[in-house]
Amino acid sequence: MKRRDLLTGTSAGLLLGAIATARAADFPEVRWRLASSFPKSLDTIYGASERLAARVAALTSGKFQIRTFAGGELVPGLGVFDAVSQGTVECGQSAGYYYVGKNLAFAFDTALPFGLNARQQNAWMYAGGGLKLMREFFASYGVLHFPGGNTGAQMGGWFRKEIKSLADLKGLKMRIPGLGGRILAELGVVPQTIAGGDIYPALERGALDATEWVGPYDDEKLGFHKIAKHYYYPGWWEGGPQLTFFVHLKKWQSLPPPYQAAFEVAAAEANVHMLAEYDAKNPPALQRLLRQGVILHAFPKDVMLAARKAAFAMYEGESRRNPAFRRIYIEWKKFMDASNQWSKVAEASYSNFLFYVK
Ligand code: CA
Repeated sequence: MKRRDLLTGTSAGLLLGAIATARAADFPEVRWRLASSFPKSLDTIYGASERLAARVAALTSGKFQIRTFAGGELVPGLGVFDAVSQGTVECGQSAGYYYVGKNLAFAFDTALPFGLNARQQNAWMYAGGGLKLMREFFASYGVLHFPGGNTGAQMGGWFRKEIKSLADLKGLKMRIPGLGGRILAELGVVPQTIAGGDIYPALERGALDATEWVGPYDDEKLGFHKIAKHYYYPGWWEGGPQLTFFVHLKKWQSLPPPYQAAFEVAAAEANVHMLAEYDAKNPPALQRLLRQGVILHAFPKDVMLAARKAAFAMYEGESRRNPAFRRIYIEWKKFMDASNQWSKVAEASYSNFLFYVK
C-alpha cells in the first residue's frame, strides 16, 4: 500500500474512528456515589460537588458518572468521612475539621483559628508540602483527599448586642462549633453547636445571643440580620477554610488512570471556582445587608489577642500529646510564618492602600 493511500481522507478517518471506538470500549462504565456534608441551600459549596461530577463525566465521554447526594440523603452530614473511609460510598465532600474528635490533626485539612488564609492554604497544599503531609495522615484511614473549594475568610457572626471588650463575652451564648468554640469558651463564651436550619429560631427566642455562619452571601439567606444587627469581622477561626473531596483509597486505585486524572483536574477546578463564586457573590450581598441597617464591627483588639494566645497555647499543648498533630503542625507553622512575612511586604501593602485610600 502506498503512503498516500493511508493518508486519503476517507481511509484515515475510518482508521482513526476505529481506534477511538476501540479505546473508548477499553474504558469501563464506572458509577460512583458522592455523599456531601452540605445542604443544597449552600449552593456555592454543594455546587462544587455537582461541578466535579459534571466535569468528570465530560472528561470521560460520560463513562465515569458520579451521582451527588446532599447531607443526610445517604449518610448524615457529619458521617461523610467515616462513610468514605469504610467504603460505604466511593467519595464524599466534607471539611476535615468536622472530625477533630478523631484527631485534632484533621483541622489542618480545613482551617485552624489564626491559621492560613485561602491563598496560603492553596499554596501550602499544592506547592508547600501540605498535600503530601495530609495524604500520609488520611492514608491511615484508607482515604485520599483533594482540596475542593474555599470560602475565603469568613465573618465573625451576628450579635444581638455590641461587643466592646473581652468582658462582654462572659456568659454569651453563641453558636460556634469546633476549635473556635473551644477557644471562645476559654474567654467566657458558652459555645453551642447547632445545625444551620435551627439557628434562626434559637436566635429569635433568645436561646442564642450570637451566631456565626459563613459570610454575607450565605448568612443573608438565613436572615440573621432581622434579629441581630451587629455583624462582626473577621471570623478568625476560619480565615481560609478549605472544603475537601475525600475518596476511598482502594476504589481510587481501581480507577483507570485517565479517570483518576479527570477527577483530579475537576477537583482542582472546583477548588478555584468556589472561591471565585464567594468573591463575586459576597460583595453585593454585603451591600444589600448594609442597606437593611446591618452595622459592621471589627472584633475589639483585646478579644483578638486573647483568642490568638489561647489558640497557639492549644496547638503547643496538643503537639506535646499528639505525634500526628505535631508532625504536621511543625511544617504548617514554618510555612505560615514565612508566608506571613512575605505576604505583608507586597500583597498586604498593596491591598491596604487599595482598600483604604480615599
Ligand atoms: Ca463559619
